[in-house]
Amino acid sequence: MSGGTFAARTRGCMRERILEVLRRYWGYDSFLPLQEHAMACVMRGTESVVVLPTGGGKSLCYQAPAVTLPGMALVVSPLISLMKDQVDSLVECGVPAARLDSSLSAEEQGAVRSRVRARELKLLYVSPERLMTDGFLDLLRGAAPSFIAVDEAHCVSMWGHDFRPEYRQLGALKEALPGVCLHAYTATATQQVRDDIARQLRLTEARMLVGLFDRPNLAYKVERRANVLEQVRAALDRHRGDSGIVYCIRRADVDNLCQRLGELGYRVRPYHAGLDDATRKRNQEAFIREEVETIVATVAFGMGIDKSNVRYVIHAGMPKSPEHYQQESGRAGRDGLEAECTLFYSAGDFTTWSRLLSEMEPEAKAVAQAKLADMYNYCTGVTCRHQALVRYFGQELAAARGARAAEGCGACDVCLGDLDCLDESLETAQGVLLCVTELEQRFGADYTAQVLLGSRDQRVVDNGHTSLPSYGLLAAHTRRLVRDWLEQLVAQGYLCKTEDYHVLRLTEKAQQVLAGEETPRLLKPAAGASRAERTGKPKTSKTAKESWDGVDAGLFEALRALRRDLAADKGVPAYVVFGDAALRDMARLKPTTATAFLLVHGVGEKKRQQYGDVFLAAIRNYATTAAGGHR
Ligand code: ADP
Ligand code: MG
Ligand code: ZN
Repeated sequence: MSGGTFAARTRGCMRERILEVLRRYWGYDSFLPLQEHAMACVMRGTESVVVLPTGGGKSLCYQAPAVTLPGMALVVSPLISLMKDQVDSLVECGVPAARLDSSLSAEEQGAVRSRVRARELKLLYVSPERLMTDGFLDLLRGAAPSFIAVDEAHCVSMWGHDFRPEYRQLGALKEALPGVCLHAYTATATQQVRDDIARQLRLTEARMLVGLFDRPNLAYKVERRANVLEQVRAALDRHRGDSGIVYCIRRADVDNLCQRLGELGYRVRPYHAGLDDATRKRNQEAFIREEVETIVATVAFGMGIDKSNVRYVIHAGMPKSPEHYQQESGRAGRDGLEAECTLFYSAGDFTTWSRLLSEMEPEAKAVAQAKLADMYNYCTGVTCRHQALVRYFGQELAAARGARAAEGCGACDVCLGDLDCLDESLETAQGVLLCVTELEQRFGADYTAQVLLGSRDQRVVDNGHTSLPSYGLLAAHTRRLVRDWLEQLVAQGYLCKTEDYHVLRLTEKAQQVLAGEETPRLLKPAAGASRAERTGKPKTSKTAKESWDGVDAGLFEALRALRRDLAADKGVPAYVVFGDAALRDMARLKPTTATAFLLVHGVGEKKRQQYGDVFLAAIRNYATTAAGGHR
């Protein structure tokens, strides 16, 4: 007999069983971070709240155990489109799954009920309002579910950004189905919402599993908005043929931008709450089925879209909080492959949002204003975007990346040296710091900017500050720019603001700047196009290079066209057939036999049976035509 405790052996055995399921049904051979832990909780019957960023692989945390455990698991999900997507994907992988929601006819619902009674299903998806009805609870008691997964669990919390009153009913679930273990899944990062989820669902003993929020495969870029149409076009042109989303703040902006892009030959569709249901649905489907590449939308578009191969998310306007930005940009690259998140902002966006927020209740308004200011600081900031975002959510990039963090993230405009920095950053920063010193560290950023700009404001005159050596030092620049520089110095830790009055103070690091030993990064004023555009192609991020390694791009395109046709025939989204990662692996490995096909990332038994022949034929065909072309 081998060594090790019994517990360790059963753990090893459970791990093997799950891995076997992952290989067989999904064609994956390893876990994403925290998945193994989260699955172990489900297998062992320890309640859990799992917090992983968008694309972190939350669905598999309950789907794989559901397949492994005897009986049927129940999944609560807030949107019909989400349920449909997941059920379609599961069925494609060969997992018996179904959903019960109001979009099904009475007959279809009856059929699903019979399948539940006949114990044919491994997973049943249901909306919260349906779940809490007497009839349904009776059906469930008969079926004795193996466990219940509550997806998008932040919908239960008023503090979340997407509260749904129906989710509140789930608080009664533990009493209604005693003894059934509950697990909650969300991408919401704030502590308050996490705690609220546990409280609302009465998960007193739950394990709290919180993943890292960094998304290394996303390349972040921020640019000041100048000519938005040209800027958006430049970003779209970097991703010809790829799927992506362009977000605008207002509906009118959506319509306008969409029309102009359409006239220029881009395949785009609009999406916002002002369009009727049928149009919205049609446009969404066209995007999901890859009949069009790009959707131009307000934030109304997104939740319920699990499309895994979104290769870019462009913000034509600034979102109102880092939470919103994390969520919206997070829709890119769910498949773990490289994707680009570009944000165009202007000071006007800040004003627009401020005005919109002004009607809120005082308390909520203060929170929203602070988040808006954080968002603006992110835009004008000059620290690594990955670092800035995870820090906002209370994490450190170094924790996620270990020693490599010091090299820079390799996937943001700051770390790739793509920022347009002022040539005279040092002199300018020294001037600003001198001004703060001359003001005896007793004034805020607005006032300091006025002095630097040489303002004739009454307060400046009365204070006698017109005679300071730094008075008017930056008079050649705009107020906005000087204000931004002040914030950039704060963000890089050369200045800090006191908590109460936001008075500017020098930090220790400031001394090094004054001594000329260290140069802060100060951004140049907007000049229309970014350096990346003026100097040609932007630098490619590290993930981009790795995931295209050895991939035959021509074959990839051919397989993508095949996927689109197959998906259209079956009436399912393209990525339900195969994800981009699977297609790239095919175009890399170029398998010629069924056995080799099974080695492709994302190919399990069922998919091989269904699609092996047709994809192998396409690969063979490509090889012969390519060879023919060389003759
Ligand atoms: P979330 O719900 O957390 O946003 P999803 O469950 O939609 O994330 O998963 C995101 C993507 O990651 C999907 O394309 C999924 O198939 C893929 N994925 C999940 N787990 C794994 C794994 N262990 N190996 C490879 N890919 C995975
Ligand atoms: Mg999900
Ligand atoms: Zn970076």
